[in-house]
Amino acid sequence: MGGRGSSVSGKSNAINWAHRRKNPTTILDKDPIGDENKKMFKDTMKNIVSIYPIEHANEIDIKTVKGALGQAGIGLDVKSLGNGQTQIQGYITLAFDDETFSSEYALEKKITDNFENRWNSSGEINHIIAHELGHILDFQLSIKKNGNISLDEFLTAKVIPDADVNNEINRMVNLYDVNFSRGIAQAVSREMNVDGNKMVSMVSEYARESEMEFFAEAFAKSYLARGKEKEDVFVQAFNKVLKERINKL
Ligand SMILES: [Zn+2]
Repeated sequence: MGGRGSSVSGKSNAINWAHRRKNPTTILDKDPIGDENKKMFKDTMKNIVSIYPIEHANEIDIKTVKGALGQAGIGLDVKSLGNGQTQIQGYITLAFDDETFSSEYALEKKITDNFENRWNSSGEINHIIAHELGHILDFQLSIKKNGNISLDEFLTAKVIPDADVNNEINRMVNLYDVNFSRGIAQAVSREMNVDGNKMVSMVSEYARESEMEFFAEAFAKSYLARGKEKEDVFVQAFNKVLKERINKL
């Protein structure tokens, strides 16, 4: 998809979610998914959006990221149109590392290594895809929670007078500045009746980084649970808390 979320020109870093990252990444306008991984990629995207309320994920123009295995972003594209008018449009982005996703071997090796050293919450080949879609779900539910608007509305361009731009930027940034995922780790730990540290150790090391990363790692673990893993106490507790919080929106 062109346009939505992909016009890099007017993008301001000051209002880009990615500025929160400790290690800066670079986004390239290039499809990162190698031929061997294309079917798995598409099937995973399709399946996740059929289960969870994620809008527009299949329309995102997938980019290449350098400096991370995957990256999901949300932000605002602000473009001055002249004549005292400015166009503001929200965007979401999804990007993956092209070397890791170039072949099935490279992807499997990376994920297996990361699972063995406990960095990732699963060893499934579609782990990174599920993790990034977990962030997209978090963004979308944040917008709903903070402003009771749909992702659709957030992504629709609007033209406003220059004098209103600052207020509108503040309003839109506030829609995603406080994430839906905030407090979920605490709720899951309460649900399981184990302390937070022990609960997070059932997920992954990456999950310790922030509440957003906890959510994405927990989402990937729960979505990718197979057979008996679905009865795992953590998976059950996370699914219960997620469902309750989605129903409350
Ligand atoms: Zn992440």
